[in-house]
Amino acid sequence: MSETLQTIEQSYVDFLEEFGSDPSFTILSKNCLSLLHEYAQLNGQILRFQVISQSGQSHQPNFAVAVLLNDRQFPAEFASTKREASLQAAYKAFYQLSLDAKHNQRFLVDDNCTLFDRIASTVLSAYRDLCVSVQLELIGCKVLAGFVQEKCEEQAFNIVSLATGNKCVGGSVLSSHGLVVHDSHAEQLARRGFLRYLYEQIECFNQNRESIFEKSDGGKLKLKSTIRIHFYTSFAPCGDSALFSSRDQIYEGSIRDEHEFYLTARVQGQLRSKIENGEGAIPTESKSSILYLDAIANGKHVRHMSCSDKIFRWNVLGIQGALLSHLIEPIYLHSITIGFPYHYGHLCRALCCRLQEYFHSNRLPDPYRLNHPRIGHTNLKWKEVTNQTTNSYDSLNWNIQDKTIELIEPSVGKRRPNNEVSRLCKKNFFELFKTIRPVDRKTYYQMKQSSTIYQQCKEKMFRGFELYYLTGWISKDPSLSMFL
Ligand SMILES: [Zn+2]
Ligand SMILES: [Zn+2]
Repeated sequence: MSETLQTIEQSYVDFLEEFGSDPSFTILSKNCLSLLHEYAQLNGQILRFQVISQSGQSHQPNFAVAVLLNDRQFPAEFASTKREASLQAAYKAFYQLSLDAKHNQRFLVDDNCTLFDRIASTVLSAYRDLCVSVQLELIGCKVLAGFVQEKCEEQAFNIVSLATGNKCVGGSVLSSHGLVVHDSHAEQLARRGFLRYLYEQIECFNQNRESIFEKSDGGKLKLKSTIRIHFYTSFAPCGDSALFSSRDQIYEGSIRDEHEFYLTARVQGQLRSKIENGEGAIPTESKSSILYLDAIANGKHVRHMSCSDKIFRWNVLGIQGALLSHLIEPIYLHSITIGFPYHYGHLCRALCCRLQEYFHSNRLPDPYRLNHPRIGHTNLKWKEVTNQTTNSYDSLNWNIQDKTIELIEPSVGKRRPNNEVSRLCKKNFFELFKTIRPVDRKTYYQMKQSSTIYQQCKEKMFRGFELYYLTGWISKDPSLSMFL
């Protein structure tokens, strides 16, 4: 950040402290205008004033004017002349920027901060920027998760996707055309946003543009060795990592990079499924099973695997999933940053070490492996991430590819407010896939099944859980994925 910009941001903070609550703003607004211009210039942003509406009688007009900084629109202000409305709108924008600058300071990290604080600050800052551009009350959230990409050579950390949410769909809305997002927990939506970025990066590679991918010896694409992927979540993921650690004090581990395996009770390590519409997870049956639609029609609850189990799966099969495995080698997380509750040993168990012994004697075929990411704690928090009961409007997702916010109604798995199909649904990913690789009239399900090594590794993982923890993975009815 340039020194001048820092000075300006500091002056915002001073301004806020001095005049933030003072309603007699007209005397100050002239100063706001020039500072706004300066701010825009230094940030390379375009500053515009837009007349949003004009009403009232001709002798008593009423103008609504809003400030636009690039695409970001600040709240409009009303006055009887355009000039007056513009000045007041400038004040409003200036006030908001002051608040931003103040929050910015909260996430400032220096060279001595941990990797985990740096990752958290990248996600939290991105979330804060989104919060000021949409109505805050829409997105008060309980869990915030995000993916960060690191370019090792430049030591640069960039946000790729983020999401909030902690609910899932019920059985009555499941779609056999892949149009519904089943699981709106923050971690899962953030991963789906990350997948959109992967598709775009594959496209970049194919068009000889700069990409995170390079050709592997096997002919697929693989992540460049200079690129790392990090994951952040504000709460311990539901299931095995969340259920046992809250009773313990925060334990950050002794040798940070060596995983510790904590198993202090028989119920630990088990696979668990989320309870429909609830916030909690219960152990699954002893064998892996398929949840058929007719069972759901007969009143059986829909069960989604817990986030701990799904993240465990990322550490075995990669984040990319079965479909993308046709095109790229598995992508493994370099690190996982977690807010609260936090206990190093319990998190290591839940997120990767649970089947360490099993995979030691049941090797995964190359390039698959059991990945042990660096796991660490952060104290950084954003004030809107609360521990209070949430409403049903709390699933938000954003990613660097789409650059827009999408709100999902978790109980129906579709976009708010018009129930349109989410960009994160299976059908949309299949469409993206088909733009890169023809599928020969195969269904989404068949394409996933034909990722043979991926499927073998998955089955091997399922056997491990049945053997070691007497719990099985619950898969959804294949008929939900048999669309073209
Ligand atoms: Zn979850
Ligand atoms: Zn581990």
